[in-house]
Amino acid sequence: MTEQTRPDADARPSYKDTLNLLETGFGMRANAIQREPELQALWRERGIDLEMGLSNPGPVFTLHDGPPYANGALHMGHALNKVLKDIINKHRLMQGRQVRFVPGWDCHGLPIELKVLQAMDQEQRRALTPLKLRKKAAAYARKQVEGQMAGFKRWGIWADWDHPYLTLQKEYEAAQIEVFGTMALKGHIYRGLKPVHWSPSSRTALAEAELEYPDGHTSPSVYVAFPAVEAPQQLRAALQDQGVDLPADGDSLQSTLQVAIWTTTPWTLPANLAVSVNDRLDYCLADDGRGRLLIVAADLRDTLSEKLGLPLAAKAVVKGALLAGLAYRHPLLDRHSPVVIGGDYITTESGTGLVHTAPGHGVDDFNTGRKHDLPVLCPVDEAGTLTEEAGPFAGLNVLKDANPAIIEALEAAGALLLQESYGHRYPYDWRTKKPTIFRATEQWFASVEGFRNEALAAIDAVEWLPASGRNRIEAMVAERGDWCISRQRTWGVPIPVFYHRSSGEVLLNADSIAHIQALIAEHGADVWWEKDESELLPPSHQGEAAQWRKGTDTMDVWFDSGSSWAAVASQRDGLSYPADLYLEGSDQHRGWFQSSLLTSVAVNGQAPYRTVLTHGFALDEKGRKMSKSLGNVVDPMVIIEGGKNQKQEPPYGADVLRLWVSSVDYSADVPIGAGILRQLADVYRKVRNTARYLLGNLHDFDPGRDAIPVEALPLLDRWMLQRTAVVLDEISEAFERYEFFRFFQLLQNYCVADLSNFYLDIAKDRLYVSAPNDRRRRSCQTVMALIIERLAGAIAPVLCHMAEDIWQNLPYAVAEDSVFRRGWPVVPDTWRNESLNAPMQQLRDLRGAVNRVLEECRGRQELGASLEAAVRVDARSASLQSALTWLADHGDPEVDGLRDWLLVSQLQLGGEPWAELLASDDANPLAVIEVARARGEKCERCWHYESDIGQHADHPSLCGRCVAVLKRR
Ligand SMILES: [Zn+2]
Repeated sequence: MTEQTRPDADARPSYKDTLNLLETGFGMRANAIQREPELQALWRERGIDLEMGLSNPGPVFTLHDGPPYANGALHMGHALNKVLKDIINKHRLMQGRQVRFVPGWDCHGLPIELKVLQAMDQEQRRALTPLKLRKKAAAYARKQVEGQMAGFKRWGIWADWDHPYLTLQKEYEAAQIEVFGTMALKGHIYRGLKPVHWSPSSRTALAEAELEYPDGHTSPSVYVAFPAVEAPQQLRAALQDQGVDLPADGDSLQSTLQVAIWTTTPWTLPANLAVSVNDRLDYCLADDGRGRLLIVAADLRDTLSEKLGLPLAAKAVVKGALLAGLAYRHPLLDRHSPVVIGGDYITTESGTGLVHTAPGHGVDDFNTGRKHDLPVLCPVDEAGTLTEEAGPFAGLNVLKDANPAIIEALEAAGALLLQESYGHRYPYDWRTKKPTIFRATEQWFASVEGFRNEALAAIDAVEWLPASGRNRIEAMVAERGDWCISRQRTWGVPIPVFYHRSSGEVLLNADSIAHIQALIAEHGADVWWEKDESELLPPSHQGEAAQWRKGTDTMDVWFDSGSSWAAVASQRDGLSYPADLYLEGSDQHRGWFQSSLLTSVAVNGQAPYRTVLTHGFALDEKGRKMSKSLGNVVDPMVIIEGGKNQKQEPPYGADVLRLWVSSVDYSADVPIGAGILRQLADVYRKVRNTARYLLGNLHDFDPGRDAIPVEALPLLDRWMLQRTAVVLDEISEAFERYEFFRFFQLLQNYCVADLSNFYLDIAKDRLYVSAPNDRRRRSCQTVMALIIERLAGAIAPVLCHMAEDIWQNLPYAVAEDSVFRRGWPVVPDTWRNESLNAPMQQLRDLRGAVNRVLEECRGRQELGASLEAAVRVDARSASLQSALTWLADHGDPEVDGLRDWLLVSQLQLGGEPWAELLASDDANPLAVIEVARARGEKCERCWHYESDIGQHADHPSLCGRCVAVLKRR
C-alpha cells in the first residue's frame, strides 16, 4: 500500500464521507505494556490456557520441563528456552493434542546453600544447625521460584503454574529416593573411594565454589628419578634399532634406566602407584653423564638439561605408547609400579612429560587409575596426617612436616634430581584460609558400567534434533566413568543409608528404602535431620538403633533433576512417560539429558524421552558471550518493559521477545541486541499493520449475510485463497519440524509480498471506492475475513498476544471466545486451485516489471501516483500471452482487470508503439512496457484519470463510475 495512491480525507473533504474508510479498535501501535497484561487477564478469566487442552480429542503431548536453577534473575537463555517450549505447547494444543506442561525448578545444591551462608555473619554461621540451614535454603529457593515464575508468566508462557514441580517437594523427594533405591537394589549403586577437595583445617570436603586461590602460594617442587626394574620386549627392540641395548631386568637395569618425574606435592609420593605418559608424545632416553639414561619428554630435554645441570645427551627417542609396561621401583617404599598411558592432560608445558600418579590424590590420577585398575591408595587421614600406609612417614602432616622429611629421604636414596620452590595457583579453604589437598574419601557411585549397553541402546531409540546430538551423548555415555552421586553437603536429598558404628557395614535394602521413602513422602527430606536413628531405621532394626549411624551425605543435584521423569512425567495425571519431548540447551547432553537417561535406563531400561531437541545460547550481536563486564547483557524484562532511557530501550512487549525466539536458527548460538530488536519490531509492525488493515476493512461485513461463496469469487480472490493455503501448509510443516525461523520468514513474506504489496494494494479501489454492498467489495471482504481468522491462528503460538488481540477485535461474531479455542487453522479444499499458480505468477511478474518502470518515472519526478500513468504492454513471452488470454477469458469484469491490478488509469495491450513516452522497458523478455501520462482528468473521488469527468452536473469533478456509486449508496 503506497501512501501516494491512497485516496484519503485530504483529497476532497466533501467526498471523504463517501469512501469506505478503515474502522477498528485494533491499534496501529501495540501498546504492549498495557495491552498484553489485559489479554493475559482475559485468558485467566475465561480459562484460556493449557487446561482447556486436557479435554482435547487428540493424544497426550508431554513436553517435560527441564528445571532451571532456582537462583538469580531471568536472562535471555531462560527466554529462549521457555518461549520455544511455549510455542511448541501452544501449537500442539491448537492441533487438538492434550497438553499439560508442568514447570519445574531445581532447588537444592551448593549455590543456594552458599547464598544462605553468605547472608550470615561468622557468629550466625557457627550457631547454624543443618536443619536451620535447610529451612533457610528452602525459603530462599521458594522466593526465587516465585520471582522467576512471575517473569515467565509475563512472557505469555502457559503452564500449570499452580502445580509446578520443585525438587524440594516431599512427593518429589520421595520419588527420587525410590529411584535411588531401585538402582541400589538392582546393584547399580556402590560405595568407593574418590579424591575430592579436602580441607584438613576444617576436616571437610569442599566444593569448587568454596575454594579460593590467593596470590603468592609456593610449593616445594621436586624432580625425582624412579629406577626401572623391568622393560617390555617391544621397547627393548625399538631401542636396539637405535643402538641402545638395555641391561637385563633387575638390578643392573635399575642403575641404568630411570624414569624422571616432577611433583609439587612431595607428600603424595608415598601414595604413588604409577607413572603416566602421553602415548602420542615423543620421549627420549637421555644420558645424564653419570651412567644413567633418564626418560624425559623429548621437547623438554633442553630445558631439563639446563635446570638439572646434567648433559642429557639424547640416545634414543620413542613414542610414549612404547613405554607402557615399563616397571619401576618406588624409591622410598618396597613397591614396584607400572608406567601407564594417561591422557591428553599430560603435556610438555612443565615438569618432565611423565606424571607421578597417585589415584587417591588427584582427579586425573584417579581417572587414569580407574582405566588401569590401580587401587585408590590414600594414606592421609581427615586432619592431613599420613597413616600407617605411608610407611616410615606415618604421623607426619602433609601441610607441615611431611614434605621436608620426604625430600630428605629422596636425597638419601639418591633419587632426588632437583628441589626448587614453585609459585602457582593453589586452592585454599574459603573459610579457614588454609591450603586444601586432594584426598580420596568414601563416596557413593552409580555404576554406569552396569547398564552402559542398555543406555546406548536407549540413545539409539531416541530421535535427536539436531541429529548431531546423538553422537555427542553417545560418545559421552560410552566413555563416562561411574557417576559419583554423593556430596558432603546439607542442602539436598539425603543418601538414605546407615553405617554400623563398629563394623562400618552399610544398611541399604528394600526395607530401609521403603521406610525412609514413606517418611519423606509424609514429612519431606528434613525428616532425615529431624529424627534420629531409632525412627529412621526400618522397624526390623529399630531395636538396635544405638548400633547404627545415619549417613550425612546428600545426593548430587543432577540426581535430583535426573529423577524428574519419575517424580513428574510418570506420576502426574495428563503426562506421558517416556515424554514426547525434552528441550534444553545443547550443554545438557552432559547434564540433564544424560542424568535423566541414566536413572531412567537403570530403573526401567528405557530413555525418559522420545525426542530430544536442543538449542544454542544467546550471544550479543557481535557473537560474544553476554557479561556484565562487557556491558552487553540483554535483559528480557527490559525488552518487554523498556529500559531506563525509553528512547534507547523502548518497551517492545513480550510478543517481540517471542518473535525473536521464532526468528533465530536456534540449532546454533543465537545473537540478540538493540539492532536486531529494532528489525524485529519492524517486522512486528508490518504484521500488525497488515492485520489492522484486514480488520479495519471488515467493520461493515457480516460473513453470514455478506460472504460470497468461494466458488463464485473472482480469480484474484481465488488465487489469494490458494496462496494462503500454500503458505499455511508451509507454516504447519515448519511448526511440525520445530523450524520456527521458517515460520518467521513465511509470515513476513506473506504479509509483505503477498498481502500488503499485492493483494491489498490492488484491493484498495474495491474496498474504498465501491459502494459498501458492491459485489466487488464484498468478495474482497469475504477473502479478508477468511484470511484474518487464519492469520490470527497461524501466529498464535508465537505472537500469542497479537493473535488474541486480533480475535477480540473481529468485527463480527464468531463461535469461539479466543483464537486458541478455534484451533490450528485448517483450509477447506475449495480454497485449493493449483491451476491459478502459473498464470498468476506471470501476471505478478509483469506487475513487478511495470512497477519498476513507473518507479523510474517517479524517481525523475515525472510521475506521482501510479494512477497518473497510462501503460502499454506488448507481451513477448508465450506464457505471459496465455496468462493474459486466461485473465480476459475467465476474469471477473469488475475485479480481474489488469489495469486495476497495475494501479494505472489506462492500459493498452498490444497495438502500435506510443509516440509520447515517459519511460519504457523494451529489454524485458516478458513484454515491452511503455509508460505515458494518463489521458483525461483526475476524478476527485477515486483519483483515476478518466475522460468522462464533467459530464454530470451534480458531481462535475467525478468520473462516471463514482457518480454511479454515489447513486447506489
Ligand atoms: Zn472516480
